[in-house]
Amino acid sequence: MITCFDIGGSAIKAATASGSESLTPLGRVPTPLQDFAAFTAAIAQLVETGGATAGSPIAISITGVIDPDSGIATVANIPCLDGRPLAQDLGAVLQRPVLVANDADCFVLAEAHAGAGRGHRVVFGAILGTGVGGGMVVDGQLHRGAGGWAGEWGHGTIVATEVSVPPFKIAHFPCGCGRIGCLDTVGGARGVEKLHKLLHGTELASLAIIEQWTAGDAAAAQTVDLYIQLVAQPLALVANIVGPDIIPVGGGLGNSAPLIARLDSAVRSRILRQTDRPLVVPAQLTADAGLIGAANLGFSQGWH
Ligand SMILES: [Zn+2]
Repeated sequence: MITCFDIGGSAIKAATASGSESLTPLGRVPTPLQDFAAFTAAIAQLVETGGATAGSPIAISITGVIDPDSGIATVANIPCLDGRPLAQDLGAVLQRPVLVANDADCFVLAEAHAGAGRGHRVVFGAILGTGVGGGMVVDGQLHRGAGGWAGEWGHGTIVATEVSVPPFKIAHFPCGCGRIGCLDTVGGARGVEKLHKLLHGTELASLAIIEQWTAGDAAAAQTVDLYIQLVAQPLALVANIVGPDIIPVGGGLGNSAPLIARLDSAVRSRILRQTDRPLVVPAQLTADAGLIGAANLGFSQGWH
């Protein structure tokens, strides 16, 4: 049995896992942000609640990046973990093997083992949430890449500056990563809203824009056309480089089946591989993806 955790800036969720899809929830507690001793105590308490035997492993999905060589975690919104070799430090206190992975990577592990990617060898998971993220799993194993940054297709100056339908020039916006013109600045939910305001001068929530588009509204359709072009281009490049069998899409925008179907046909029309089967599909696991992904991180390492 693996005790698995989904750790975000506001809450720690925990569960025990005895198979790649069978979770027993252990509840959630607020995340101690400043005090590492309080953090380890919260984890230890949840492990005990789950009835884990001495020395049984724990696996963690976290909102940060883990360097696969040093184990150092970069977790901006949980200061007591930032800069620590998290798995080593936690393992030393708890006397258990500990595995840690980024939450986007855990999302892809979950989809690859128990969701839309099940049965596929190469799974590239794309997150279109507040911003843009991703990760990849090959033959069931997470591919972390140098420094742990593999799959981060949302950053770098890659947004087109001009599109033809509708005819439009796009400014390069500054991104949280310090660069300008990242897909992250226009490819997530905030991006849809930004594009809608640029085109039409009106502020509308992304969900409302998508709803109006599916109801046939012309202005919303222009926004979605622009959005699809900007996102399909880099995602098609990802597909050409990585060669995924399937691309599950998570995050809030992944909940819109019509939007993802539109993105799928736009990506497939731009890639070299010709296939009639859907490539870009909605993710199947939403609520517990972090926990299921963490559990499968453990199972994929031979833990049980
Ligand atoms: Zn960026």
